[in-house]
Amino acid sequence: MKPAMMTLKSYAEGRWVTGKGSPAEIASAINGEIIAHANSDGLDMAGMLAHARRTGGPALRHLTFHQRAELLKRLGQHLTAHKEALYALSFHTGATRSDGWIDIEGGIGTVFTLASKAKRELPNETFLIDGEVEALSKTGSFIGQHAYLSREGVAVEINAFNFPIWGMLEKLAPAILAGMPVIVKPATSGAYLAEAAARLIVESGILPEGAFQFVCGSVQDLFDHLTGQDMVGFTGSLETSMRLQSHPGLLRSAVPFTAERDPLNCAILGPDATPETPEFDLYIREVVREMTVKAGQKCTAIRRILVPESRVEAISKALAERLAKIRIGDPRDETTRMGPLASLAQRRDVRARIETLRRDADIVFGDPSCLTLEGVDAEKGAFLQPVLLRASNPDAAASVHAVEAFGPVATILPYRDLDHAIALANRGEGSLVGSLVTHDPEVVRQVIFGAGAFHGRMLVLDRDCAKESTGHGSPMPHLVHGGPGRAGGGEELGGMRAVKHHLRRVALQGSPAMMTSLLKSWVKGAPEIEKDEHPFRHAFHELEPGQSFHSAERVVTLADIEHFAEFTGDTFYAHMDADAVKGHPFFPGRVAHGYLLLSFAAGLFVEPKRGPVLANYGLEGLRFLKPVEPGEAIKVRLTVKSKAPRNADYGEVRWDVEITNTANEPVATYQLLTMNACMR
Ligand code: NAP
Repeated sequence: MKPAMMTLKSYAEGRWVTGKGSPAEIASAINGEIIAHANSDGLDMAGMLAHARRTGGPALRHLTFHQRAELLKRLGQHLTAHKEALYALSFHTGATRSDGWIDIEGGIGTVFTLASKAKRELPNETFLIDGEVEALSKTGSFIGQHAYLSREGVAVEINAFNFPIWGMLEKLAPAILAGMPVIVKPATSGAYLAEAAARLIVESGILPEGAFQFVCGSVQDLFDHLTGQDMVGFTGSLETSMRLQSHPGLLRSAVPFTAERDPLNCAILGPDATPETPEFDLYIREVVREMTVKAGQKCTAIRRILVPESRVEAISKALAERLAKIRIGDPRDETTRMGPLASLAQRRDVRARIETLRRDADIVFGDPSCLTLEGVDAEKGAFLQPVLLRASNPDAAASVHAVEAFGPVATILPYRDLDHAIALANRGEGSLVGSLVTHDPEVVRQVIFGAGAFHGRMLVLDRDCAKESTGHGSPMPHLVHGGPGRAGGGEELGGMRAVKHHLRRVALQGSPAMMTSLLKSWVKGAPEIEKDEHPFRHAFHELEPGQSFHSAERVVTLADIEHFAEFTGDTFYAHMDADAVKGHPFFPGRVAHGYLLLSFAAGLFVEPKRGPVLANYGLEGLRFLKPVEPGEAIKVRLTVKSKAPRNADYGEVRWDVEITNTANEPVATYQLLTMNACMR
């Protein structure tokens, strides 16, 4: 069914607005019929930026990481509830249902993953402490500490046409988590799908006013108004990224610019993977999938197929046979395996690039000019057969290492040995992902250390992981998405590093007391708070960073050590055998077990009666610094370092613990984690 003509709007300064100029026409990829108009002429870009800075930014920065994560989770749920409306439009971009799944549910899944990681990995604060305290003075009265703060600007997202929803959500989620409002500009082709998702986001009312704005059409003079607090995340072609990256407004204000652009990803078949091995078949499946999913319009798709010279014939035949079975057709038809390209213009571009590739390679399968595809009108719809090429001289095939045909197109390149394969892989000058299909660890070692630095991500695929592998082409929200050189130079997206990328790291210097009060995390050297009552008697909300308990002393006797050894079975010579320990580089004689010291420490600081401490939940950063000999006394300092609420009933308390000897020298330090009830 043809959708009603859509006049796309932008969402600017709290209103949906139509551009005033003559609109760009957007056609359905299936039959070339015009289904949408887009135009952003007349939008006040400076006004949009000011609106985001004035309203969205402060509202987001007021929330903690956990509160922002909660907004994203709700947004993901809202989009999930309305996903069918998005699928209905997605078909017109040429996407089959499973292609659409990557874009729509892959995008929503990224939002959920980042929201849940943020709750687990970031504090329930508006800032993030980075790394350890740096001691900058002799007596410890002056220290350094890095912290991430929210930028006070706008995250501008410019997305490519191939994933209108995933592309938008992949960048939106970390920006919102970091407390930055976003202005999203989708590619014009496919903007109707991005606009539908934008409407869901706005209508949900989940994000604060000004946190989300949307430009349907050109960004006009937006770049002229950017400042050093803003940032740009771009996905698209090399040419556009170079043009935008060199914009004087960006250069003047040193606006961070992340580029994800057109790499020439490769897949290497290991020399061990003969046609009799499972790896051979895995390789064929992976290459065919990457060539045909989303009609090859994936930034992560395999473009260069690197195989041992002796296996070129077998690979060519196996790939051609599988490609011949791919049913090309209307993406709404469930039996269709590959839909059309995004537009007729895109098909023209891909055909032209195939012609360039043909200077260095011959076609093994597919006819780029074929218009007689069963069941579709390939004159009107942007259908294209998969095209497999083969370069007999891969070193001389300059175009194959430089030209991206953004469609179902890939080229077989024979290699002599692994060094040759690595050299060819690296001729791509940096890509998003490389795959290596082999079951030989030595091949893996050589290729990863030879080509790893040229790739953002490397998949090692073999029989052991194939069943659960997420595949060559799927960027995972947990892992780096981006690649060096030609791929744009990015490594910011993926996991919490994407959030950190949207924050600004500041080096703070001052006294331990000031840093403790500012960052709500006690630092050694800052004042300690001692109260009459043991801190274990205090409920979660009553505890404050710096609150300390100093224990009495306890002498560690030889009988204690022997008893502990017998009881636990730990009769290591350093605790039990004075002769064996003679001449030892660390121990002057028999010494106490480290775990004995920890156990005694617990006995010294614990408050035994039932109280707000619910459980000991682990310890971190344990270091044994000095041995304790029989007859020496130890004591413990226990100090509240920081607190992280978990829910209405309890929260995590992090205690700084130091065990010292009679000479007041630290013998062990660690951070103890307890769960404490909010009520006494
Ligand atoms: P494109 O033509 O470079 O366009 C990318 C985006 O830039 C679009 O939103 C486009 O808007 C916008 N744009 C173009 N000129 C602009 C200007 N002067 N000022 C501001 N924005 C401008 O790329 P595409 O054809 O959409 O995407 C295909 C390319 O993206 C492929 O090369 C592919 O490899 C790459 N890609 C890379 C990744 C990755 O993660 N590395 C992911 C997906 C795609 P209009 O559409 O309105 O012109």
